[in-house]
Amino acid sequence: MRDPLSGNPTLNTDYRNASRDATHILLFPESETYCCSAQLIHDLPPTAPYNQKKQKSLEEVRMDGAVETAALEPVVIPNLVALISDACTAIDAYADAARGKCRAALTNDDGRPDRAALEREQHIAHGLSWLVTYAETLRQTAEWAARLDQEGKFGTTESLLTQILFSDYCAQLASGIPMNQGEVIRPHELGIAAEASALAAASPIQKLIIEGKTPAVMAAAAECLPDALSRNTVEETGLDETMSMVREQFAKYATDKIKPNAHEWHLKNEYIPMDVVNEMAELGVFGLTIPEEFGGFGMGKTAMCVVSEELSRGYIGTGSLGTRSEIAAELILIGGTDDQKQKWLPLISSGEILPTAVFTEPNTGSDLGSLRTRAVKSEDGSEYSVTGNKTWITHPVRADLMTLLARTDPSTNNFSGLSMLLAEKPRGTDEHPFPADGMTGGEIEVLGYRGMKEYEIGFDDFKVKAENLLGGVEGQGFKHLMATFESARIQTAARAIGVAQNAFETGLQYALDRNQFGKPIFEFPRVSNKLVMMAAELVGVRQLTYYSARQKDGGKRCDLEAGMAKLLAARIAWAAADNAVQIHGGNGFALEYPVSRILQDARILNIFEGAGEVQAMVIARRLIESAN
Ligand SMILES: Cc1cc2nc3c(=O)[nH]c(=O)nc-3n(C[C@H](O)[C@H](O)[C@H](O)COP(=O)(O)OP(=O)(O)OC[C@H]3O[C@@H](n4cnc5c(N)ncnc54)[C@H](O)[C@@H]3O)c2cc1C
Repeated sequence: MRDPLSGNPTLNTDYRNASRDATHILLFPESETYCCSAQLIHDLPPTAPYNQKKQKSLEEVRMDGAVETAALEPVVIPNLVALISDACTAIDAYADAARGKCRAALTNDDGRPDRAALEREQHIAHGLSWLVTYAETLRQTAEWAARLDQEGKFGTTESLLTQILFSDYCAQLASGIPMNQGEVIRPHELGIAAEASALAAASPIQKLIIEGKTPAVMAAAAECLPDALSRNTVEETGLDETMSMVREQFAKYATDKIKPNAHEWHLKNEYIPMDVVNEMAELGVFGLTIPEEFGGFGMGKTAMCVVSEELSRGYIGTGSLGTRSEIAAELILIGGTDDQKQKWLPLISSGEILPTAVFTEPNTGSDLGSLRTRAVKSEDGSEYSVTGNKTWITHPVRADLMTLLARTDPSTNNFSGLSMLLAEKPRGTDEHPFPADGMTGGEIEVLGYRGMKEYEIGFDDFKVKAENLLGGVEGQGFKHLMATFESARIQTAARAIGVAQNAFETGLQYALDRNQFGKPIFEFPRVSNKLVMMAAELVGVRQLTYYSARQKDGGKRCDLEAGMAKLLAARIAWAAADNAVQIHGGNGFALEYPVSRILQDARILNIFEGAGEVQAMVIARRLIESAN
């Protein structure tokens, strides 16, 4: 006996005893199950707007006698929560095996990471990072599902998206994970071909792969999507009431004030208006995670994620306005003197000053440790003279404070001689971007990620007060910056989630509105499947990102988790944007359609805050080190 809608069993709840032979479904995937969903689609009147249609539920299809009840395949796998928990146990063992093999190949005799091997075998090392990222994503999704289930909130939508995510990621774990469109890491390359076969044959994994993502399951999940347009997230995220209120507030702001204008700002390459920046300051965006004693709201990184998601869902530019404040505040909290905290944090928190992050140089991007901009202290010790070139600096013209990374020890050529300066500057305009002695610059025209403008900047004897050396001690700059990367990467993952959510909603709305062959294109599985996969991947990456935020709030080292969240979220955002354009057909290629902007904006997420390859490298190192 099964619940007619969810397909959940009402008597026999043991998934291991599920009556249907999994092999049968593999061999005959287009059996009665598929007919049922096809029937469902054909029953719809061809021309009515999709949202106004009375779409038949699986139960109604059963009731009208068109299809025999016995022939219907339940779509939610029985006892799913227990099943995915068991699957995670098998996946964790698989990931451990991969780590063991990689460690043997990528460490020296003393067990420390072998730099040369790590570089030579990047495909393998980075592949390990992806594999463990998948394992952690599924683990966090399973734990979220268990929590929701206990609260009675693990509904049909959550169940379907969860099993689809597990089905797809388990199949990839066992056969190959795309690190991007062109590079797939295969089990045999990691030396775990036998373990991959065993994984695929393990009972919970096999069941998830075979039954988790059938055409009927995908059709049932698609049925859940149109309703999601009236919610902020497709799934119940499991966050507490305070976070729901925060989300609601920022979602409303983004819907009313940002989304309607974002495309025009983008097309005209305009700044996000100062009115909007000021309103965001009033809403508390810039002081969200700054402790109350310094004028902030003292909220955790989960709140930062929710706010970043919602603002980025409106427009990546607004979701990124707070990034620089977050970086500057983290730097000062981690490395600043008491005086620096007292002076700068309240100003950052209120939005009275806008910071900008000045790290990258023309010849120094991923390899920041080798940057060359010099900061030389004057003989009387009162100030630094900064000389050198920086590039790709976001929002520098309207900024008042630069977190400026420069070399204070000329005898070094690595990270040890770098220091962070809190360099003040006057605000400029498009006509006079840098009205400061010793500072010039030019705009870099960009594909997307507009609204703040990127500049290259030349410093020539630019003066910074010596008291503005972060922490008052030279040579600590790189260390301080690394410590802020955890927070910045969590925030960037959240930005990517917001962009992916926007792509999903934009694609979904278009698919519902656009008719071809006499019906909304949403009704074609190749269209709705794309949207279902976006929703399913969003479930997983949200939970991974919230997990890294919780780790950070708990004071735990979380560079690994933050890196994984950023790595996966960037790929998911790009895939979602790309598929949303595909759903738009030719119109997706027209600049007037917002989806064209979403694609352009999504592309940056795998480049900055640690390019995907560098992110994977950092994760691999940590995985191998921590295996010691
Ligand atoms: C829109 C935008 C905004 C930005 N905003 C800021 C900002 O506000 N402040 C700031 O300081 N910087 C900013 N940046 C710079 C950004 O952080 C860098 O672009 C990024 O760190 C990559 O550096 P790079 O561009 O020099 O690329 P490179 O380091 O030259 O890398 C090029 C390619 O080579 C790969 N690669 C490099 N090293 C390795 C390796 N060891 N193994 C494998 N692959 C490798 C990279 O992954 C990448 O795919 C911004 C960039 C952009 C595009």
